[in-house]
Amino acid sequence: MDYDVIVIGGGPAGMLSASTAAARGLQVVLLEKNDKLGRKLFITGKGRCNVTNNGDMDDFFDNIITNPKFLYSALKAFDNHGLMALLASLGVPTKIERGNRVFPASDKSSDVIKALQKHLQVNHVDIKLQTIVKKILVKNNRVAGVLLNSAKQISAPKVVLSTGGMSYQQTGSTGDGYKMARQLGHSIVEPKPALVPLVTGEGWVKDLQGLTLKNVSIKAIVNNQIKAEQFGEMIFTHFGLSGPIILSLSSLIKEYINTPANKQLRLSIDLKPALEAEQLDARLQRDFNKYSGKHLKNALDDLLPQKMIAIVLRLSGLDIHKQVNQISKKERSILVQTLKNITLTITGTRPLNEAIITSGGINVKEINPSTLESKIIKGLYFAGEIIDVDALTGGYNLQIAFSTGYLSGLSTAKA
Ligand SMILES: Cc1cc2nc3c(=O)[nH]c(=O)nc-3n(C[C@H](O)[C@H](O)[C@H](O)COP(=O)(O)OP(=O)(O)OC[C@H]3O[C@@H](n4cnc5c(N)ncnc54)[C@H](O)[C@@H]3O)c2cc1C
Repeated sequence: MDYDVIVIGGGPAGMLSASTAAARGLQVVLLEKNDKLGRKLFITGKGRCNVTNNGDMDDFFDNIITNPKFLYSALKAFDNHGLMALLASLGVPTKIERGNRVFPASDKSSDVIKALQKHLQVNHVDIKLQTIVKKILVKNNRVAGVLLNSAKQISAPKVVLSTGGMSYQQTGSTGDGYKMARQLGHSIVEPKPALVPLVTGEGWVKDLQGLTLKNVSIKAIVNNQIKAEQFGEMIFTHFGLSGPIILSLSSLIKEYINTPANKQLRLSIDLKPALEAEQLDARLQRDFNKYSGKHLKNALDDLLPQKMIAIVLRLSGLDIHKQVNQISKKERSILVQTLKNITLTITGTRPLNEAIITSGGINVKEINPSTLESKIIKGLYFAGEIIDVDALTGGYNLQIAFSTGYLSGLSTAKA
């Protein structure tokens, strides 16, 4: 055999898998199709790399949307503190920000990549870039090696498949691993976009393109039932909505999007969630007193961004040219209702390629959660986003990649 372990894919999961196995004395080769390791890692957190979250295990399980229980052993084997300690030992101290989000102190994803490369080199992992794996070779239901696009074969008794999902394909994550696993009898839960912008049906959204709203609350409602609620920042785009709370919402309601239930799905934006209706009405009265000689359209500058005023008034149906000292209690109440309930319909999501995460992937029923070894092919292991797991934003997805990377590498050394 050429090596003890072949790791396919040099993202965070593959890099940590390879170095963990090699640190235990195994001969390991890491095969990456790009000319650099960690291309997706480079763009994470807008280049700052939200590498993990400082929350406790319960918090992790609350933020993992798909198959949290499956990840229990991986997160136990290598948790957020393990990751922060490893990065510190490799010369990359971390800092904690709002929402317990952990970043490298330097704010540079490239420092995380350099640290992981150092970890690979110190442990003598053979790194082969611009090397595309075509197929995993199997004999008698046991891994035998891999076949490259170049027609070359590399032999090893163990292979870790960590080729990522299918989003941001320019980074190299093109879904190759799904095909390789399917050929070996694995089933793939259909890959779908998660943490993805939402497309809305209302034409007026376009007029607000580029407008960011902070401290708003947004509810997803199906048949009058609230299915999810998020508070924070969102942005209007030419197609609909994006921004942190929209991305999270897209994952929380993915079961309703692009299904028959989509027809009943509504979003309701509360522009002033900190104020109850009565408090908001009192606030309006104060503003109307201040601007008493003005038209309604000119009396809301203290309450809303300029672009939003025209839309709110259009949706309320009120006469924008009426002087505010002539606005009735009933009209104020209509305005309050509009401010607290701007309704939107969702017609779909942006395509998979624009999603932060691919939901779906290798069916977890076919993977041993304690080792991440395939239950179908001996010597085949999985790590990272290729597995049918996904989480909300906040560093959880990278921690999943690192934890499953670590456990898969450790398992190759133990078996
Ligand atoms: C814009 C953006 C921002 C993000 N920000 C964050 C963040 O701040 N925090 C967070 O927790 N998560 C973030 N994520 C998610 C995070 O990047 C992924 O969860 C993580 O990269 C998954 O790691 P992975 O190693 O499983 O896969 P990937 O990082 O996708 O790596 C897979 C690797 O396999 C290689 N490969 C594929 N096919 C082959 C083949 N046939 N042969 C050889 N190599 C192959 C690819 O080139 C790639 O390098 C972000 C994602 C995006 C798109």
